[in-house]
Amino acid sequence: MDQQWNATYQNNIIPALRRLRKVQGVILGFHSVIDGIKRVKSDEIETILNANLDLKQSVQEKIYAMPTEIFSPADMMAGLLISIKSGKSYRMVIRDEVTFRWILETFGYDQLKLGGTSGCMANSLAPLDLQKILVYTNPLTQQLLELFGENDNLYVVSQVDENIQLRHPHKAWQHKGIEAIHWGFEFAQGTTIQLDKITLIAPRASRFYPCWNPVNEKLLLSPSFKKGVLHFINQFSHFIVSGYQLLSPNYPDGTTCIDYMLSTLSYLNELKVVRPTLKLHFECDTIPVDAIRYGIRKHVLPQMDSMGLNEVELDYFIKDMHGQTLNQLDQENSVEYYFGGLVELATKSGLERIHLHNFDYYICLTKRSQRTSPKRTRQAMMLSAVIAAQRAETGSVGNKTTFNSAKAISISEEGLAQMAALAKHISAPSNFMKTGIAECNDYNVIFLPTKIVSDPVSTVGLGDTISSIAFLSE
Ligand code: AMP
Repeated sequence: MDQQWNATYQNNIIPALRRLRKVQGVILGFHSVIDGIKRVKSDEIETILNANLDLKQSVQEKIYAMPTEIFSPADMMAGLLISIKSGKSYRMVIRDEVTFRWILETFGYDQLKLGGTSGCMANSLAPLDLQKILVYTNPLTQQLLELFGENDNLYVVSQVDENIQLRHPHKAWQHKGIEAIHWGFEFAQGTTIQLDKITLIAPRASRFYPCWNPVNEKLLLSPSFKKGVLHFINQFSHFIVSGYQLLSPNYPDGTTCIDYMLSTLSYLNELKVVRPTLKLHFECDTIPVDAIRYGIRKHVLPQMDSMGLNEVELDYFIKDMHGQTLNQLDQENSVEYYFGGLVELATKSGLERIHLHNFDYYICLTKRSQRTSPKRTRQAMMLSAVIAAQRAETGSVGNKTTFNSAKAISISEEGLAQMAALAKHISAPSNFMKTGIAECNDYNVIFLPTKIVSDPVSTVGLGDTISSIAFLSE
């Protein structure tokens, strides 16, 4: 089976790569940000706590009642210690500027990287020789824009007086400074923090993510971006939407996340009126806030042509649709469970295309009434799997994508086993193990066993790479 799938991969990625390079232009909105990576060690944390006993006292109380957002240094330190104690990654929004400055001065960062779904996609797509990639960035600061690659297919909207242009990010910055930063505090397994009465020990390596991004907390799109994209929309054929995780359920002024979601959707609608062929894809992220997920299912998905997500994100939606609580998200589920969830989510929201990427396999459902053939969808998925495997293996990808560079990476055996389980579950045609293609209700089913790198250099942002390449090269 492994050999047969390798041959299928070999024969199929080039047509998808050609299509990717012919895409007229893609817009990536609405989330680019600076990621600040900081490795923390026990003694650094203990020194900060022991230098301020009021802070230490407050943190010791807060670790038993986890704050949901960060309003003070004690909230931030409690979040960090809870993350260390459980070995789990937590994301918390910083709501207070003085606290943001305190974190910046007290911890700083080791390295700044481009982050956010749109930012990560921009830098991973640019080396693949796409014609035009326009990415949303707000604010246009030098520190953020310089994190984009050198590639001359990257653009942002730049406005000087009344003159709106598309320019390379490196040439479009308007002021200096860090106005938003999403930290990733990395800690090693065994990191030990001695408090007055207890000792916390990290059971595994993980990260704590405190995020400061007040400029984008309501996803109010910058007026020059809105004007510029409307003006240049005929140069673009695809729009990949993301970033709703930046919203809060409620704001002090009485507005809610739904208000701001609807305002981005009404803007996308304006674009569709001018450019009816524009294809919209929504890329999901882990969204722990119930109200935002509800808004995505009710308002965002019905307006999209396509959606990409991983198995954890899908599980959230499945539990929402079944009215279940979310306390058991960590468990592995069967391919039958995920498949049922995909069909239900696609059918209920009217999506024409939904693409799940899991560790050993991808599943894509496409509406049978659509003109895209399942073989073409499969080519696009194979291209995304090959590029993901190359990126996992080397940490980066140049513009020389060929099948040969991924030939030695084997097809996942677990993926093939899951494929057999799904074949039985949906009574797939007898050649399903060779083709991965079947039908279910109104949808084509395309199942792909993927290539898994056993010792990856990096898997950060790989899901975004997979979804965007498969969508664009279909
Ligand atoms: P996400 O967590 O959404 O960024 O998705 C990560 C995806 O990357 C997974 O669903 C897999 O499809 C893929 N992936 C993760 N690790 C590897 C690996 N070692 N080799 C190839 N693909 C991987």
